[in-house]
Amino acid sequence: MTEELRCVGCGAVIQTEDKNKIGYTPKSVLEKGVETGEIYCQRCFRLRHYNEIQDVSLTDDDFLGLLNEIGQNNALIVNVVDIFDFNGSLIPSLHRFVGDNPVLLVGNKVDVLPKSLKRTKLKQWMKEQAHEKGLRPIDVLLTSAQKSEELDTLLEMIEKYRNERDVYIVGVTNVGKSTLVNQIINQTAEIQNLITTSKFPGTTLDKIEIPLEDGHSLIDTPGIIHHHQMAHYLGAKDLQIIAPQKEIKPKTYQLNPGQTLFLGGLARFDFIQGEKSSFTAYVSNDLLVHRTKLEKADQFYEKHVGELLQPPRKDEIDDFPELVGFEFSIKEKTDIVFAGLGWITVNDPGVVRGWAPKGVDVITRKALI
Ligand code: GDP
Repeated sequence: MTEELRCVGCGAVIQTEDKNKIGYTPKSVLEKGVETGEIYCQRCFRLRHYNEIQDVSLTDDDFLGLLNEIGQNNALIVNVVDIFDFNGSLIPSLHRFVGDNPVLLVGNKVDVLPKSLKRTKLKQWMKEQAHEKGLRPIDVLLTSAQKSEELDTLLEMIEKYRNERDVYIVGVTNVGKSTLVNQIINQTAEIQNLITTSKFPGTTLDKIEIPLEDGHSLIDTPGIIHHHQMAHYLGAKDLQIIAPQKEIKPKTYQLNPGQTLFLGGLARFDFIQGEKSSFTAYVSNDLLVHRTKLEKADQFYEKHVGELLQPPRKDEIDDFPELVGFEFSIKEKTDIVFAGLGWITVNDPGVVRGWAPKGVDVITRKALI
């Protein structure tokens, strides 16, 4: 057996196979490093030389181990979620692991939600949703890592709540955690200096410890993969289509019972029973919504998926899971949420069905807007 090589920055076992996993080092770099005896994984290398965080992901078991460790330390936990995929980006049972540590809940990508949605209302809604999941955040806040919105507030809150403790930043993949951490580093000259001058304690396999002035650390943890996100079933091009890049323009439809909406070829919404009513789709502006008759919807999908109904693309349909339907009886204004894709607001009582690829969640929640 060959001897295990470890990164001198973070201690991860060096590997050259998977860019998105910890310890990745390009082969050419590894060969040079073996000569000098000093090998940094790509992630540590980029952090030291470019002050830039690269995200990696962990398996569920490793992540549980990490959460356990966090619970045992006295620290502030910053949980970054994607406000567009709120329910899909909460970390299941985070509350059970954090112990007595305070959690600051950060809803990122606020730039994609309609401006008409009041921020105070949104924060209140986030709190309620978190409480439902057993999480009692010490505070909630909305950011846009991409547009540098509210980053000062985030830094102020971190200072306010950390009380000279370490700060762990946690989140599932794709919520924008690394974009956010990079912005924090860029905005803080002291952190930049500390990164380039201080030694990284090579004790942990899976996290990056960014030194803070008082000797404590801001700890960036790998993202956990959330298997029920639509993202795991799509290629990079399709992800560009379904992940909103800018403010969503809601699309409202007057539907009679017996009508169906297709969200590209990725999801489907049936209005089964109720009075004629309006339904509003909150999905990426680039995703086409197509209306058809419920009784013909199955054949319509068969015939048009991969073409009129895209994504998935034609060459992807063989590997694309079949759509599975979930029926809901609606009593009050409710969102039918297609994990990672968006949601449809149902305004009036009735019976509806939401369809998503097998493995992707369709859930209901109290209407956000
Ligand atoms: P991570 O996996 O949580 O580290 O996520 P990344 O930082 O890699 O970001 C995932 C995707 O979300 C990328 O395509 C980013 O460009 C995008 N993203 C990150 N932050 C924001 C934001 O504030 N707004 C929007 N619209 N997109 C964002």
